[in-house]
Amino acid sequence: MTHISSLVARIKNGETTARAQVELAFQKAQDNHEYHALLSLTKERALERATEIDARIAQGEPVGELAGVPFVAKDNFLAFGAPTTAASKILENFEAPLQATAIEKLEAAGAICIGKANLDAFAHGGSTENSAFGLTKNAVNKDKVAGGSSGGSAVVTALDIVPFALGSDTGGSIRQPASFNGVVGVKPTYGMVSRYGVIAMASSTDTIGCFTKDVSDAELVMKIMSGRDVRDMTTLPDFFEPREQVAPGRKIGLIREFMTEDVDADVRQRTTEYVEKLRAQGHTVEEVSMPILKHTLGMYYIIVPAEISSNLARYDGIRYGLRAEGVKTLVELYGKTRDEGFVTENKRRIMIGSYVLSSGFFDAYYMQAQKARTLLVNAYNELFNTYDALIGPVSPTPAFGIGENAEDPIKMYLADIMTVPASLAGLPALSVPAGVTSDGLPVGVQLIGQRKSDANLFALAKSMEAN
Ligand code: GLN
Repeated sequence: MTHISSLVARIKNGETTARAQVELAFQKAQDNHEYHALLSLTKERALERATEIDARIAQGEPVGELAGVPFVAKDNFLAFGAPTTAASKILENFEAPLQATAIEKLEAAGAICIGKANLDAFAHGGSTENSAFGLTKNAVNKDKVAGGSSGGSAVVTALDIVPFALGSDTGGSIRQPASFNGVVGVKPTYGMVSRYGVIAMASSTDTIGCFTKDVSDAELVMKIMSGRDVRDMTTLPDFFEPREQVAPGRKIGLIREFMTEDVDADVRQRTTEYVEKLRAQGHTVEEVSMPILKHTLGMYYIIVPAEISSNLARYDGIRYGLRAEGVKTLVELYGKTRDEGFVTENKRRIMIGSYVLSSGFFDAYYMQAQKARTLLVNAYNELFNTYDALIGPVSPTPAFGIGENAEDPIKMYLADIMTVPASLAGLPALSVPAGVTSDGLPVGVQLIGQRKSDANLFALAKSMEAN
């Protein structure tokens, strides 16, 4: 039984109640206030839902697979009960008119959203230092960043405030903070989970996933969230069928480019140990090379800002949230609202995106990047002809210090090198804990599979966890 399913069993058999679990989560949120992982709590609504679920159980009525389980959603998920801000001033008081499909599905299964987690504003970043409302601290070492952009979700999971939390992963935003805080993080195949009702960053790589304490819990949550949604045209027909056993003798490729001297020695060591464990389980692990990987940051930081500049155009001071005061013309209204509402990193990406899409440069940057992206997809496909999965670190370093990379966007972007490739290719990838550094900082390894092989990745990761 997973942690989550045993909690549900205890709620159903009356050992505890949904209300008690929700109250406990609020208590823990309060006790861990100093991490600043949460931007808001949905107190009233969560307690109402808990009371309702407890009443159903008391009357012997059927309840869902997640009955009474509290969870937290990253604050770029539209949800009832608290504002949806994307950690941006431009949406500071925005009340969602609807809920994200992912949240609707979890609620239909009985889960209870208790609050909204901090993030880099509009999910632009890898440390949660770009939040307009203050940074989140790492769950293991308060001098270190939480990672990002889903830093708050990773930290609430690591601190055990809730059994699971939701995040979005566009270029690593679930996998990297999961590895920085020592929890499991899932980025599914692009299109496995509906993006409807999640504030768009880069629509061609945005995915919805979760953070949990172990792989089986993550699998359960993903199973409930996944599936075709008529409101998101990019969702795939249902394909995710969890399985108990991993097929024996898998062939796994260790990505050579991510195991070089530039990578932190502890990170390499923990990855090597995981590889040894895979071998001990009877799997074959061989080094593979993907020379194109060195170009993936270049592709990512053209394509993603291009899509960001388009997706963020809607925040104009007219339709949503913030509207600047003291302006005389419409153009001034747009300009001042966007200047006051966006953080520096949002503006940087809007400018890069507008530039690479502009008529003089479109062919030179955006089109080239898209062509290179096709080559990347081909390179992965080539490897997946031979290998069942790929393995490598999640991040070149463990959690870095607060402020260490904050002033240098290039340094920050370089840290994304290991997570953006799978995003550009739409591949599923799991970040699983693989021990700690000599300083006690968590290290994660990343398992990457071909599109729609999510169930295989989970089976492999579960079998490794069991040993
Ligand atoms: N760190 C990456 C970026 O800044 C990933 C962000 C994300 O996945 N939302 O773009």
